Amino acid sequence: MKRFLFPFFLLFLFTTPICAQHKTENVVIVTLDGMRWQEVFSGVDSAIVNNPKYTKDKEGLNSRFWSGDPGERRKKLFPFLWTVVAKQGQLYRNRNLQNYVNNANPYWFSYPGYNEIFTGYPDPDVNSNDKIRNKNTNVLEFINRQKEYAGKVAVFSTWDVFPFILNKWRSGIYINSDLDSLKFNNRELKLINDIQFLTARPIGVRPDILTYAAGREYLKAYQPRVLYIAFDETDDLAHAGQYDQYLESAHAEDAMIADLWKTIQSMPAYKGRTTLIITCDHGRGDKIKDEWTDHGQKVKDAGHIWIAVLGPDSKPVGEAGWPGQLYQEQIASTIARLLGLDFKAEHPVAQPINSIYSK
Ligand SMILES: [Zn+2]
Repeated sequence: MKRFLFPFFLLFLFTTPICAQHKTENVVIVTLDGMRWQEVFSGVDSAIVNNPKYTKDKEGLNSRFWSGDPGERRKKLFPFLWTVVAKQGQLYRNRNLQNYVNNANPYWFSYPGYNEIFTGYPDPDVNSNDKIRNKNTNVLEFINRQKEYAGKVAVFSTWDVFPFILNKWRSGIYINSDLDSLKFNNRELKLINDIQFLTARPIGVRPDILTYAAGREYLKAYQPRVLYIAFDETDDLAHAGQYDQYLESAHAEDAMIADLWKTIQSMPAYKGRTTLIITCDHGRGDKIKDEWTDHGQKVKDAGHIWIAVLGPDSKPVGEAGWPGQLYQEQIASTIARLLGLDFKAEHPVAQPINSIYSK
């Protein structure tokens, strides 16, 4: 009897999926374009608020978001991150605690950043925001190619370059960007479609709230296994030097993420089986205060970013307090790993972040 059991046992060992214990069956990713780690971890920056060049209504802003205690201050700006994620999830990395997350790409602007997040490869040739069809395979299309996920990967973005970054012509994933029609036989999506064509476009693309609303209603109606929502307003408002509006958008996006998490927890297909990853494409200037509006290679410190995670496979450590260095290129394989998949592509792919998926 033993003679037959032994080879069977070996077979079991070698065919077990790489992450047999994972509870995650769905992954939801949200990005806040160019959102500085400084506000995420310390709240409103007094030096910028007190500069009339950047803040029109200092008193109004301070009454909503200011506290002398940085712990309280960040909670006022990002209540979901610092009440729910800080207790039940993980937040990387507070530079004040000698913990770092950086772009591995040297460019520190959007297309190279999103390419790095989703391909796991900081390709030196990807160095423009132009509408160029990305040659690199991304993790979303890799997941969509797996039989059980086929047709169940969807992207809603405000910025209209995402169809190119994620190469919708090749990848086959559903990508709805800016003014792409929401042609669905669904009352809510039809209404959002009407609104997006009727609304003002203060930053030249549809408002983030419509990208969010479309993503949420799509989730409820079609239940994708992987959903990515890409916000844009924070970057545009920071470039415009409107610190108050930049913070208002960041605060609203935190509320949208809270609403998304509430929606996820209300649906049996998602509750307790979904990991949420929140991050950004690049940082912005730091010490030289006038550089907070900008980013790119010439802006010191603009390669510093952050990641927040909430889900059943991630230990509830809160704010990561141990020293170390993570890179944006590790997010792609981490997304796959959470689903028990090993992301491979025609280009190199960085290792996943172990502390996110090993509970
Ligand atoms: Zn920018």
